[in-house]
Amino acid sequence: MAFGQPRIEYKTNAQMRIMRDAGLVLNRALDAAVAAAAPGVTTKQLDDVFAAVLNEAGAKSNFLGYHGFPATICTSVNEEVVHGIPGGKVLKDGDIISIDGGAIVDGWHSDSARTVIVGQADPEDQRLSDVTQAAMWRGIAALATGSHVGDIGAAIDDYVSSVPGKPLGILEDYVGHGIGSEMHMAPDVLNYRTSHHGPKIKPGLCLAIEPMLVCGSIDTAVLEDDWTVVTTDGKRSCQWEHSVAVHEKGIWVLSAPDGGAEHLVPLGVVPVPIP
Ligand code: MG
Ligand code: MG
Repeated sequence: MAFGQPRIEYKTNAQMRIMRDAGLVLNRALDAAVAAAAPGVTTKQLDDVFAAVLNEAGAKSNFLGYHGFPATICTSVNEEVVHGIPGGKVLKDGDIISIDGGAIVDGWHSDSARTVIVGQADPEDQRLSDVTQAAMWRGIAALATGSHVGDIGAAIDDYVSSVPGKPLGILEDYVGHGIGSEMHMAPDVLNYRTSHHGPKIKPGLCLAIEPMLVCGSIDTAVLEDDWTVVTTDGKRSCQWEHSVAVHEKGIWVLSAPDGGAEHLVPLGVVPVPIP
């Protein structure tokens, strides 16, 4: 018999402070991988750069070995949406690549992704990345101002549909998630508006907020490697993600050194360090 979703793990302030440590290591590893992304570089080289930062910090990877995943980051290039496996693929001028990684410190997880355009960016790709990133920050702001987890998807959806110009699609097959003593936990965090409000936003709730947007149809397929998700129409896609904590004084973006202040303050939300 099914009893619905598993219970949400609410964290103590001490546990969330360790998650912030994991988020900061992850942030540095992503900085290094993003800096290394250039024409002529392979996706495997980005994985090596990322893994070296984790190793040096004494952090573990939550991606490596996850259901058999063979690397420390997912590298998803162009029509690849998520879960691309680093390998011999050589990055070319104009490629759009999402780099998604995670780190574990003392058993506590972090998860964050960024999109990079290699070399000269096509304006349409730049717009896709900019809107996806801005949508993520709208979703994060809704965690501070909203009452239920469903407010995050509603804020992302409202923002994306308000952007002038050619409409962008919000992926529905993959969503954000709770995070803590495991990488993927309850609740699901949808990136679109539904009639279901979801659980209440309460102190101790930690979420990975990760909108995935596409230029074309939101239809996806999984390649023969059983991991790489692609758009079925071959159009480009984009993902941005941060791990965020709710505590009794406010919210703090665990995978950003400033807690997200640079992007949240203009939206009227001042992140507060975890007490
Ligand atoms: Mg991720
Ligand atoms: Mg995630």
